Amino acid sequence: MEYIIGADIGTTSTKAVLYDQKGNVLEYANVGYPLYQDEPDMAEQDVEEIFEAVVDAITQVVRKSDVAAKDIRGVSFSSAMHSLILLNQEMEPITRSITWADNRAAKYSEELKTNGLGQKIYEKTGTPIHPMAPLSKLIWLKTEKPELFNQARYFIGIKEYVLYKFFGELKMDQSIASATGLFNIFDLTWDNLALETVGITVDLLPEVVATDYQFQGIKKSYAEVMGLPEDIKFVIGASDGVLSNLGVNAVDEGVLALTIGTSGAIRTVVDQPVTDPKGRLFCYVLSEGKYVLGGPVNNGGIVFRWVRDQLFAPEKETAAQMKIDSYDILTEMASTIPAGSDGLIFLPYLGGERAPLWDANARGTYFGLNRNHTRAHMLRAALEGIVFNLYTVLLALEEVSGSPKSIQATGGFARSALWRQMLADIFETDVTIPESFESSCLGAAVLGMVSLDMAKDLTVVKEMIGVTNAHHPNEKNYTAYRDLLPIFIRLSRQLSGEYKAIADYQRTH
Ligand code: ADP
Repeated sequence: MEYIIGADIGTTSTKAVLYDQKGNVLEYANVGYPLYQDEPDMAEQDVEEIFEAVVDAITQVVRKSDVAAKDIRGVSFSSAMHSLILLNQEMEPITRSITWADNRAAKYSEELKTNGLGQKIYEKTGTPIHPMAPLSKLIWLKTEKPELFNQARYFIGIKEYVLYKFFGELKMDQSIASATGLFNIFDLTWDNLALETVGITVDLLPEVVATDYQFQGIKKSYAEVMGLPEDIKFVIGASDGVLSNLGVNAVDEGVLALTIGTSGAIRTVVDQPVTDPKGRLFCYVLSEGKYVLGGPVNNGGIVFRWVRDQLFAPEKETAAQMKIDSYDILTEMASTIPAGSDGLIFLPYLGGERAPLWDANARGTYFGLNRNHTRAHMLRAALEGIVFNLYTVLLALEEVSGSPKSIQATGGFARSALWRQMLADIFETDVTIPESFESSCLGAAVLGMVSLDMAKDLTVVKEMIGVTNAHHPNEKNYTAYRDLLPIFIRLSRQLSGEYKAIADYQRTH
């Protein structure tokens, strides 16, 4: 038997999982690191802390297992998207890693949107115009921190830094590149218009390679520390988002991966790059001939948490005393209310919204309240509103690709049978919950297995993951939702003219 490690460099921690060739998990390690927020809108991480966490996580899985090091064929990587690090002439970092959550470039992405240049660049790069992307961050740095910007010899992300430390070779994979906002997803090269807009030349960016690219010749000291053979191969891999599609077996045409954790997303794999004429969707590279099209939403399970904390504090306390899950009590309560919450609609935009609105000023709304509505209605309407919003992202997706035939759903929401059924009813599509642990690590491992000839192609993932639950649309429920959805959609459009006014009011009063 041969083995591989999938490592995911995430925003809060790095995870490493040791798999055998059949995808069975042998060992798991998770090493966390802090996020630095010294000023408003900042979200940075220390590059050395992350590098050490990567070494530590890999070391732990190798040392804990009784697998002989020589049977571990490789380590394959996943990482969070959109990070930016500046290296100087000596190839030393002169910034921390500026993560996707950093919002300091907001003014510059707004400018790109309003002057029309943003949409032109998006249509080549597939990265929505947003402060998260290195495109906006570079314009911000160049304008507001020119001394720092001008010292930079290279602009890279966290995965490039980690692999450079191991191998002394600076390479970026096409998947991470496709999330910088600077990479043309049609030509698979750095995009001239994006580079001109920032005012940089291509020699300041790393060489881009396919996601199955292999590194060999690891520095001896690192191989020793981690307990890996010196001839071990590392596979560059891709970004966490696209790899999680692979890791939940949502790579075939017509299969939608949907996740509702703290935030949420829908994603589907297409065989050629596509962009959205309205700029609402991302399109990122997974592997040769496979692109992931989708939209991220801010307002996922975090909205359920808000409803619990603000409207159901007594129930939360009782649940804590009885040592039961407060979310279980609440979903039980929501199940006493019929589908459609007797005509109460909730627009869940508590934290602004990315897809489909891309409006940081968006705010939440209860609409249709009457005297018969109870707290339980407000609860059910919130759960439904989160799914309605994801459904509107699907409508955008259907405009540029086909309709989904099935949904692979993951995230904390999937613990609730009520919420899973609601998803099947609102989307009118079969829903299955894959039994997949750390899907981005598994995705990285599968990509690595194919690169290292341990597996024939990406479809091997099908045999690696089971199914825990399946739900089919219920006619009575979807009929109720069909009549409510058009109102939700019209409302979210009609309110869009007022979001800035109310957000400005909230900022100034
Ligand atoms: P993260 O995205 O931060 O990794 P999770 O995937 O665990 O987090 O999702 C957390 C969210 O899942 C919570 O905010 C909550 O909305 C939802 N959740 C957690 N437990 C349950 C449950 N038993 N029933 C329904 N929803 C749940």
